[in-house]
Amino acid sequence: MPDPAAPVDYTAWVRPLQGTASQFNFSHGNCLPLVSRPFGMVAFTPQTDEGRWIFHSANRKLQGVRATHQPSPWIADYGHFTLMPQVGERFLGASARASVYRDEEMCVKPHYMQVFLRRYMTMMEMAATERCARFRFTFPKETGRIILEPFQGDSSLTIEPENGIVTGYTRANSGGVPDNYATYIVAVLDRPMTGHGLFQGKEVHEGETQRSGDRVGAYVEFPTEENSVVEMKVATSFISVEQAWRNLEREIGDNDYEAVKREGERVWNGMLGRFEIEGASEEQLATFTTCLYRALLFPHRWHEPDADGNPHHFSPYDGQLHPGVLYADNGFWDTHRTVYPFLSLFYPEEYQEIIRGWVQACKEGGWTPRWPSPGYRSCMISTHLDAVIADAFVKGFRDFDVEAAYQALRRDAFETGDAEENTGRKGIVEFDEMGYVPADKYHHSVSCTLDYAYNDYCIAEMAKALGHEEDVRHLRERATYYRNVYDPSVGFMRGRNADGSWREPFDEFEWGGPYVEGSAWQCSWAVPHDPAGLIALAGGPEAFAAVLDRMLALPPEFHVGSYGSEIHEMAEMAHAKFGQYAHSNQPVHHVLYLYSCAGQPWKAQYWVRRVLDELYGSGPDGFPGDEDNGEMSCWYLLSALGIFPLCPGHPTYVLGNPLFPKATVRLSNGQTLTVIGEGNSRENVYVQRVTRDGEPYRRTWIAHEDLMRGGELTFVMGAQPNETPSRPEDLPFSLSTEADGGAPDHGSAE
Ligand code: CA
Repeated sequence: MPDPAAPVDYTAWVRPLQGTASQFNFSHGNCLPLVSRPFGMVAFTPQTDEGRWIFHSANRKLQGVRATHQPSPWIADYGHFTLMPQVGERFLGASARASVYRDEEMCVKPHYMQVFLRRYMTMMEMAATERCARFRFTFPKETGRIILEPFQGDSSLTIEPENGIVTGYTRANSGGVPDNYATYIVAVLDRPMTGHGLFQGKEVHEGETQRSGDRVGAYVEFPTEENSVVEMKVATSFISVEQAWRNLEREIGDNDYEAVKREGERVWNGMLGRFEIEGASEEQLATFTTCLYRALLFPHRWHEPDADGNPHHFSPYDGQLHPGVLYADNGFWDTHRTVYPFLSLFYPEEYQEIIRGWVQACKEGGWTPRWPSPGYRSCMISTHLDAVIADAFVKGFRDFDVEAAYQALRRDAFETGDAEENTGRKGIVEFDEMGYVPADKYHHSVSCTLDYAYNDYCIAEMAKALGHEEDVRHLRERATYYRNVYDPSVGFMRGRNADGSWREPFDEFEWGGPYVEGSAWQCSWAVPHDPAGLIALAGGPEAFAAVLDRMLALPPEFHVGSYGSEIHEMAEMAHAKFGQYAHSNQPVHHVLYLYSCAGQPWKAQYWVRRVLDELYGSGPDGFPGDEDNGEMSCWYLLSALGIFPLCPGHPTYVLGNPLFPKATVRLSNGQTLTVIGEGNSRENVYVQRVTRDGEPYRRTWIAHEDLMRGGELTFVMGAQPNETPSRPEDLPFSLSTEADGGAPDHGSAE
C-alpha cells in the first residue's frame, strides 16, 4: 500500500515518449523525450538520428544523449552536442558507435533518464539542471570510453587528461545568431584519463589535447572494473567557459547523480503538482500530465547568473552582454494561441518574467522577433508577439518596460521590416493603403491580411489603455480589414489581387498560395477578435454553423497547390478522420469554439470532446501533429479544463466542457480554482448548465480575473445536448457590436 501521507510524485505520470513516433512526412514536431528543468536553458534527449527528428521511438539504436536547444525540427538545432559511453573497439561517428537498446531498459522522466546500452553492456544515466547535467555510467570490466561530439560548425576543444577535464565551444547553429555567438562546454570526469584524443570525422588525433576547426570531437578513456561507476558533470553557457564553470558550481557543485535527480524531481513536482485531477482514467492522467510537462519546456531561459547571482545574458540580437533576463526558442504564430494564456493563468510569475524577457529582446534588436531561435529568424507570418504582449497587458501584467513594448508593437504595425523577413510584416504598406495584402504581389496574402488585422486589434487594445488615441482609431479600422478578403460568391476568404479582382481559379481544397499551411477550409477563420463580424459575413449564426458542420463532414481532400507535394499537415488531416478540421496544425485551433459564438455551444462540446479523446494519448503515437513549443499540449490542457482563450489580447476565455469530473488547481496567488464536470462520463459530454460558486452562470465566457479569484466553476453534464441557443450579445467582445457601447465590460457573472 502506498503511504497516503507521502507526497504525490507527479513526474511518475509523465510519459516523455508521447508523440515520439515522429518523422519528416508524419510529424509530431519537437515531441522529444526531453530531460530538463522547467524552461531550462538546455535539454537532453536520447538521440537515434543526427538530423532534426532527433529521436524516433521505433529506432532501436541510440547514438548518445544530445544536449539540444532545438525548438522545432523545422527550425533545427543550435549549440548541440552528443555524449556517448563505449567500451572495446573505438567507433567515434554517430552511426558507427550506436548501440541497440530495449524499450523496457530505457526510462525517461522530466528530470532524468537511464538506458542500458546492450552493445556495450553499459548503463547510462543522466539528470539535468537548468544549464547542466550529471551523468553516471556503469561500465563492465574493460577500458571505458566517453565520446563528446558537437555538430557541423566551428569548434574548439581542450583536454586536461590529469584533471579529467574537457572545455571548449561549438558555434553550430541554424541562423539567428551574431558572429561572436558560441555555446561553451565544460565536462568534468570524476577521475584522471588514461587515454584521450580529438577527432574530426574519420580523422583521429590520438593523444592530442587541443584542436580547433570544424566539428572537433573528443574521446577520453580510463580503466574500469566490473560494475565500475563513473560520473561526469557537464555544463553549458552562451557567455564563456568561465560562465559555464560558474553554472556548474551553482547548479551541481558537489551533488552526485542521485542528489541532482532528487532536486529535479522536487522542482518538477512543484510545477506539475498545481493540478489535482479526480475521476480520470490512468491514460487520461498520463496524457494530461505529459501535456503539462510539454507546456513547461518552452521558451528556454537564456540568462545566466553573474558573479553576484544576478541574471545577465549574451544577446543573440546584438552580440553584447546585457544585465537582466532573456528567453529564446519560440514560434509566436503557434504559441500565442494557447501557451501564453495558459501560463498567464497558472504560472503567472514565470510568465511575467518571460514577457519581460521578450520585451528585452525587442529593446536589444529593435523589432519584435517572429521566431526567436535564438535570435531573429524568418519563419511563418505576421508579428504575433504583438498578441502575446497585449494579452499580458490587458490581463494586468505590468512588470516590464511598457512604453518600450508598445513602441516595438507599433513598429510592427507601421514600419517595414528587413528584406529577409526576419522582422516586420511583408506587404504592410499595401495592407495599410489598400486594406489587404495583394495576392499577386505576396505569398500567403490572405493569411497575412487576417493575421495583421488581428494583431492590430491586439495593439489597439494596448494603445487604448495607454491613451494613444490616434493609433487606436487607425489600428481598429485596420482590424476590420479581414472583411476585404471575404468573397461572398465562394463563401471563403480568398486571394485578392492589387487591382481588386479575385485570384483565379478558386479551389476550396488548394493549399498554400494565399493561405499558409492550409486551404480556404483551414485558413478562413483567423478572425478571433471579431467572431460576430465573421459570422455576419457568412450570413448569420445559422449559416455560419452550417459551414462548420460541412467542414467536419467533408472528406479530407486536399490539393497540394503551391507546396508542390504533400506536406505532413495534409497527411495528418487525412489520417485524423475529422474532415477538413485539421487539428494537426494551428489555424483551426479556435474553430470548434466558434460554434459557441454562433449560438450552438453543444456542437463545440461534442467535437472538443472527440478531439480530446481520439487525437491525444500518452504513447508514441499520442499526438495529433507538430508540438509547437507547447501549443498543441496547451490546447489539450485548456480544453480539458473547460475553458479556451478564443482571442488572446482580450482577457476572457470561452467556456467549453471539462474532460474530468473534478480538477482542482492551486493558483499561485493562494486561491484554489475547482472545475467540476458533474456527472461527467464518456457519454455525458454535453453541458446542461453552469454554476459559479453555486449561482447560475449564463455567460458563454469567463473573465481572466474571475478565474484568478478561484472558487468553483461547475458544469452539469448530460448525454443530451442542451440546445438552448446562446445569444449573440453573450459574446465577450466584438468589433461589430462595440462601436456604440465602447469597451465591453470584463466583469463577472450576471
Ligand atoms: Ca504547426
